[in-house]
Amino acid sequence: MSSATLELEPDVATFTDLIKDQLKPDVQRIDHEGYYPEGFMRNYGEAGAFYPVTEAGQFYQAIDNCSLVGETCGSTAFSIWCHNTCLWYLTNTENKSLKDKYHSRVAFGKKLGATGLSNPVKSFFGIEKMKLHGERTSNGYKVKGSLPWVSNLLENHVFGGIFDTKEGPVFALFDCSKPGVRLRPSGPFIALEGTATQAVSFLDAEIPDEMIIALDAKAFLAKVKAGFIMLQLGIGLGLMRGAISDMHRANKTLGHTNCYLPDSPDFFSDELLKLEDRTRELASDPVHSALDVGSFKKVLQLRLDAAETTRRTTYAGFLHQGSRGYLERGSGQRRVREGMFFDILSPSTKHLRQWIKSIEN
Ligand SMILES: Cc1cc2nc3c(=O)[nH]c(=O)nc-3n(C[C@H](O)[C@H](O)[C@H](O)COP(=O)(O)OP(=O)(O)OC[C@H]3O[C@@H](n4cnc5c(N)ncnc54)[C@H](O)[C@@H]3O)c2cc1C
Repeated sequence: MSSATLELEPDVATFTDLIKDQLKPDVQRIDHEGYYPEGFMRNYGEAGAFYPVTEAGQFYQAIDNCSLVGETCGSTAFSIWCHNTCLWYLTNTENKSLKDKYHSRVAFGKKLGATGLSNPVKSFFGIEKMKLHGERTSNGYKVKGSLPWVSNLLENHVFGGIFDTKEGPVFALFDCSKPGVRLRPSGPFIALEGTATQAVSFLDAEIPDEMIIALDAKAFLAKVKAGFIMLQLGIGLGLMRGAISDMHRANKTLGHTNCYLPDSPDFFSDELLKLEDRTRELASDPVHSALDVGSFKKVLQLRLDAAETTRRTTYAGFLHQGSRGYLERGSGQRRVREGMFFDILSPSTKHLRQWIKSIEN
């Protein structure tokens, strides 16, 4: 192990302190005022929380660092997923100059990243049509079209996305500060307002060859798809951990009545443990989990089970809190709303069921 790697051993105490000092005080602003915690995102990255995405054998650590945030704020855990997914694309690209320019900066939060794959992935399943189209130029592509929502996005961020061409879909890194790329806030939504979610328009934007992640987007996706999906687990596992803590806290004063609820925090802790074990196993080699059909089916099933369990756990957290959880600033209802998004984040539960079925047939 190199000394550079040694210095980056996960420092959970530092991560926990950052969350307590720089994220927790802003949770209500994030939820109710659409405040995007950019400073926290950068500092969490600088402390080494995103870096494990890039290291063979440390992928689960990246998921865990995201879930540590999700325990306090599901919305910000989603922003971290957006960033980590962009980092995962840069980790796997064979475009060396692109990697040299962005990889290290994104790995340490100096440059923040995002992902706009919900449209192309849905289009590959016939759910909707491709929204971005590119025409070949002498040194790249001219891209047109718009995406209705890309989160964790400000003008100085980059994001990975796919546009269609005559030769097939191409995977690129888009720099939002360049001419021809316009951002417009999306929403308002019932949660996730503090995730800097934007509609992105491309007005004949020039995308040079240097920004191409992969000319064959489908082949690239085949390699990164399990990592893309497993990184999402950080959101669900974090929400579950937060809801279980809420249940224990509520039981201190409401245990005499909460004992009549069908499932206890111990039941949900067991469910969480099982999901963590399955995630750890499949995350040990995310590329193999993508390319091996049997393993990939397990990844899809894991993501679906995690969504179903997150929904039950966050609602149980709310039920344990009772009226306190129904307060505007109550964590019970907030986690329920954040958990609803985990159900519809691409691949949504209905898309996951379709995907699993397509592998079985
Ligand atoms: C807050 C928020 C943040 C998001 N951030 C991101 C992001 O960072 N990156 C990203 O890529 N995506 C993002 N998304 C998109 C997200 O990942 C999902 O793709 C989205 O929530 C919808 O998924 P779904 O499977 O439920 O599709 P649906 O909502 O069911 O839509 C499927 C398609 O069907 C179309 N449709 C609907 N009704 C009809 C009809 N009657 N006939 C024909 N077609 C119809 C819809 O227009 C859509 O194109 C975000 C969404 C939200 C709400």
